[in-house]
Amino acid sequence: MKIVVTAGPTREHLDPVRFLSNPSSGKMGFAVAAEAARRGHDVTLVAGPVALKTPKGVKRVDVVSAREMFAAVKAVKAEMLISVAAVADWRPAKSSAKKMKKGEMDGTLRLVRNPDILKGVKGLRKIGFAAETGEPTAEAMRKCRAKGAEFIVANDVAAKGAGFGKDTNLVSFVFSSGEVKRFPLMTKRMVAKRILDEVK
Ligand code: C5P
Repeated sequence: MKIVVTAGPTREHLDPVRFLSNPSSGKMGFAVAAEAARRGHDVTLVAGPVALKTPKGVKRVDVVSAREMFAAVKAVKAEMLISVAAVADWRPAKSSAKKMKKGEMDGTLRLVRNPDILKGVKGLRKIGFAAETGEPTAEAMRKCRAKGAEFIVANDVAAKGAGFGKDTNLVSFVFSSGEVKRFPLMTKRMVAKRILDEVK
């Protein structure tokens, strides 16, 4: 199957040297892309700025902002999107091509919403992620339905040893039907395997 995977953070620049972002390492998305390629899928990885090597057999497109990521995902024309990226929800309303001087800034920053990539792409199978705290919630199921995903990998970011930059994650799969599959703390590689087990 032709699969596009998004990974890492996005950066939303105010000017060439300042941006809004988050601490996503890209490890989870890269593990998903690596496992999908291992299973013989045709994989394109759309990656935000991360310090990771491209997995074997994976095509890679590097992007910076959410809007670039959205365009790159649509350009692949894949049959499935696995949306692992921690996309910035907001970007500065204005960005400057030249570095702004301190004196030109007044301490306020106006933001506008970024597109929701997972929700916005149509006509293909979709799997999403969601950072949750504690039990996989009704919230993950709501997201699953709202974004048209087959299931959401609810990631308990409050759990010990899990989340941003770590090598393990505590996840549950929350399906649009309401079914929930719970897993113990697993390496990101094992999480990737369990996700790909659902891709038939
Ligand atoms: O609504 P929330 O941000 O929790 O949803 C997370 C899921 O949606 C993830 O799969 C993430 O990759 C995706 N997402 C996206 N574009 C956004 C925000 C989130 O694709 N702008």
